[in-house]
Amino acid sequence: MSGTNAGSSLDAELSGLLGAHWITDGSRLEALRGDRSGLIAEGRGIGLAEPADTEQAAAVLRIAAAHGVPVVPRGAGTGLAGGGVVGAGRIALSTARMTEIREIDPVDQVAVVGAGVINAELDRAARQYGLRYAPDPASRAISTIGGNIATNAGGLLCAKYGVTREAVLGLTAVLADGRILRTGHRSVKGVTGYDLTALLVGSEGTLGVITEATVRLIPRPDVEPVTVGAVLPDLGGALELCRELQAAGQRPALLEIMDARSLAAVTRYLPEADRPGPFAGPLGAGSAAVIVQWDAEGAGAAAERAMRLVDALGGRAIRCDDEAGGERVLGVRRAMNPALPNGTDVLIEDVCVPRSRLAEMYAAIARIEAETGIEIPTAGHAADGNLHPHLSVRAEDRTPGGEIPERVWDAAARVFRAALDLGGTLTGEHGIGVLKARWLRDELGDESFALQRGIRQLFDPRGQLNPDAVFVADDPGANANGDTVP
Ligand SMILES: Cc1cc2nc3c(=O)[nH]c(=O)nc-3n(C[C@H](O)[C@H](O)[C@H](O)COP(=O)(O)OP(=O)(O)OC[C@H]3O[C@@H](n4cnc5c(N)ncnc54)[C@H](O)[C@@H]3O)c2cc1C
Repeated sequence: MSGTNAGSSLDAELSGLLGAHWITDGSRLEALRGDRSGLIAEGRGIGLAEPADTEQAAAVLRIAAAHGVPVVPRGAGTGLAGGGVVGAGRIALSTARMTEIREIDPVDQVAVVGAGVINAELDRAARQYGLRYAPDPASRAISTIGGNIATNAGGLLCAKYGVTREAVLGLTAVLADGRILRTGHRSVKGVTGYDLTALLVGSEGTLGVITEATVRLIPRPDVEPVTVGAVLPDLGGALELCRELQAAGQRPALLEIMDARSLAAVTRYLPEADRPGPFAGPLGAGSAAVIVQWDAEGAGAAAERAMRLVDALGGRAIRCDDEAGGERVLGVRRAMNPALPNGTDVLIEDVCVPRSRLAEMYAAIARIEAETGIEIPTAGHAADGNLHPHLSVRAEDRTPGGEIPERVWDAAARVFRAALDLGGTLTGEHGIGVLKARWLRDELGDESFALQRGIRQLFDPRGQLNPDAVFVADDPGANANGDTVP
């Protein structure tokens, strides 16, 4: 923004358009400087725009573009990669008012929803028709469908039912200059032209603001889930159990693993009464955990086999044949996040490797721990090879501002390298955001990196949308497209 007049005219135009939904109150803008990654943007944004619908969002983007002011799309702010933080010189465009579930069609098995609908609310609405919205990030009770699509969110069930991309059929999005784009279809099939829907999924607010989505619903399973929670004497046993459970040609609905440090952190955090079966008793020093669930015919037999395997590996387990019992067991894994929250003391990472290489990834993490002296409790989704190393900040490394110290980022970089060397990726589900932009080229390679940057330029030649996310500028002070950011 270039000067006071331009600023006050922008302010007048946006408050004329949105009334009370153009917010410049300091405390609201302060909260938008962060998300759940622990990153805090420099300075406060100019304002928060809360358009009611696609047309108003388009008008916000036209006004911002006319003033040369960058816009950061914002869902619920639960992101773990810093992609939604709003700092100085930026406008936040929130989908908080786009919360309408417009349609649920039990024949087409689709829903048409506003981008601000909370994931769990859509699933609850679909339940009335015997259907479910399958993508289930652990943040499903608090994150939006738009944010889930923008980050291509995954969840515990995604090895069986797919990540968000598999559930998105069509989108309405507003481009940086205010043009409204409609992509995809609501039919089961549709292959006309390039798949712009898939391109927008996972674009982290850099290609367009998603305002509405047509998503696939699937029938709810008609059997109660059967869950086994096991404590094994060591990580080797836990990995062996995971391998056996998947090699049997069966596909569990979910399969989670926790190493000794993760299990110890959760045990310290959760009261004993909330730790069912073997999780309640005293645990051996190196104990690791596996939680597995089946939700299809044959679940009982699969659970019986799992109990025998645990026994043979010297472990102890609990079996629950109802949803409520299963939820109690899963509560042990879900407690990992509150036990070790992202922020000043912990950096939560998100690498993913082929399932067959999980043991090698865990070995690499152990090596990095030994070489750097940084503890890295690691739990994850063994069903899809997605591990969440929690890199701990040692008291002596704390920075005055509470930022993650470079020493910890160096260890994280080694974790990323190890994942890439094993045929994996820097991020299984949290996205690149701002925090991992400096490693993007390492994974993509020069050709793919240049092509992706070109795609961004095609959508947004002036770099107006979320300019700090995904790509790092080559020159300091320039955005992803090389333009100077005000
Ligand atoms: C406790 C906890 C557990 C979590 N568990 C998981 C998990 O299991 N799996 C997982 O994948 N993630 C998980 N996350 C991370 C986070 O919840 C997801 O990334 C989620 O998809 C973000 O949704 P949001 O609505 O909060 O988006 P925000 O955090 O507001 O935004 C995230 C990114 O999407 C962009 N964006 C948001 N809305 C739009 C839109 N309408 N159009 C275009 N761009 C948009 C933003 O600019 C930003 O780059 C977890 C987070 C927490 C705090």
